[in-house]
Amino acid sequence: MIERIKKAADKIKKAKRITILTGAGISKASGIPTFRGEDGLWGKYSISEFATLEAFHKDPKKVWQWYNYRKKLIKQAEPNKAHYVLVELERIFKDGFALITQNIDNLHTKAGNKSVYELHGNIFEVKCLICNKIYHDQTIYKDDQLPPKCKYCQSIRTRPNVVWFGESLDVELIKKAMALAASCDVFISVGTSGGVQPAAGLPKIAQRMGKYVVEFNAEYSAISMFADDVIIGNAEKTLPMLLNYLTR
Ligand SMILES: [Zn+2]
Repeated sequence: MIERIKKAADKIKKAKRITILTGAGISKASGIPTFRGEDGLWGKYSISEFATLEAFHKDPKKVWQWYNYRKKLIKQAEPNKAHYVLVELERIFKDGFALITQNIDNLHTKAGNKSVYELHGNIFEVKCLICNKIYHDQTIYKDDQLPPKCKYCQSIRTRPNVVWFGESLDVELIKKAMALAASCDVFISVGTSGGVQPAAGLPKIAQRMGKYVVEFNAEYSAISMFADDVIIGNAEKTLPMLLNYLTR
């Protein structure tokens, strides 16, 4: 493993542009449950009851209560060492750094990353279905305040600004992510199972363009076959090792 981390560090040292893709695995050490796998959220809760537009239309308050509860847990979570390595990489690469995440937990921003593209939205954002405004809101509401009133138009037709199952992602955002995968020198995938499109297709794009692709993950995934190197281990352990080789 050490040899592979050294090799990845050498590739990154020579790169001008790096693009990172992160998934739930990077936030696990921060106490955020992953969706799939053991202890995953979808083992305990049903997708169809809480994370679809149909569920929301049927019972907006119930869906909001669940998101409010998750917001409360996520608000208490702190970024871990893996998040901070990515902050350091942005400091080194400046404009040559881009971070695409499937996480809605806001932890990359909380850690200090600036160039963050949130493919699945952000749990701390509210989207108003009446005035279409999207705004950041970390308030944990009481049950009788849900759904929260839009702070612009006061309507209560608001929803969490997250992408639900069956919904499509923002087209411009996907285009941007694909361009970032195609134009980087090194593509780094961290803690994602590669099971959800279109994010899972990004390492493939980078590989087809002849870029160096390295995966950091707790286990082999659907992305592993597109990676030049796969580094198995928890990201909060392996990414600091990478940074260590990068900066020595
Ligand atoms: Zn509004």
